[in-house]
Amino acid sequence: MKSGLYIVASPIGNIGDISERAVLILKEADVIACEDSRVTKKLFGLLGISCAREFITYQNYNEEEQSPLLLNLLEEGKSVALISDAGSPLISDPGYKIVRKCRENNIYVTTIPGCCAVVAALQLSGLPTNRFMFAGFVPNKDKARQDFFNELKEIKSTIVVYETAPRLLKSLEVIRDLYGHREIAVARELTKMYEECIRGTAEEVINHYMQKQPKGEIVIMISPPQEDKTETAIDIRQVLIAKMALMPLKSAVKEVVSEYGLNKNDVYDLALKIKDEK
Ligand code: SAM
Repeated sequence: MKSGLYIVASPIGNIGDISERAVLILKEADVIACEDSRVTKKLFGLLGISCAREFITYQNYNEEEQSPLLLNLLEEGKSVALISDAGSPLISDPGYKIVRKCRENNIYVTTIPGCCAVVAALQLSGLPTNRFMFAGFVPNKDKARQDFFNELKEIKSTIVVYETAPRLLKSLEVIRDLYGHREIAVARELTKMYEECIRGTAEEVINHYMQKQPKGEIVIMISPPQEDKTETAIDIRQVLIAKMALMPLKSAVKEVVSEYGLNKNDVYDLALKIKDEK
């Protein structure tokens, strides 16, 4: 096996999701750089891969000091497989610093791509996937959380963040207050037995999780802001007026929502306004 750094994605729940190439690389690498060697050794056990290799811990807090150590091994001609506890290394996981060092020192780097919670969650969400912004973990302090979501509010793409179950409701409350009727999705326990992905306004999703305590690993997604084109607004108004002349208000709203892909609450509010003006 050629000397260099091999970035290996591992499953995010279902062990069957590891790729054949990933298994091959993990079997052959001289050194395994991992977050928690107990977690990686357990995975090796399940996959029938020998642990008789050097394991080096490489975590967010020790990336700076461990990078030179890995770099030495790479310069000696060793092959190093970099693996996270779960999913894709470097995505809210360590790895960036050693990749950068390899690039600076002309050391071979390659990736064995695979599971990534951001991508899996987006695929299930039904929210637009053509443009998305991944913003990592939501901060856990109240003020920092508020600032974090406030800063992301103007971004014209789907927003994706990682969150933990105990903090989910706090984040959803901030999203409700800042993002109003924007549709959101919460993906939980992806690829595992209790996988779910629920969608609605933040208020609706809060109601869901007030009744059913959230558990497990979580990804939150927020749909992009609706384009505020006055021209479109006028057209929709005219369409609604025409429909309301022919059918009950609720049916008119339903038809406009499904024909133009608009937010139900926004169209309903507009319909009520039109009704009041009459
Ligand atoms: N690097 C990994 C990835 O993106 O593939 C993510 C590592 S990060 C330390 C762990 C976070 O990813 C979890 O707190 C959760 O937000 C998300 N995550 C990981 N596995 C997940 C799963 N099976 N279902 C939902 N979210 C998951």
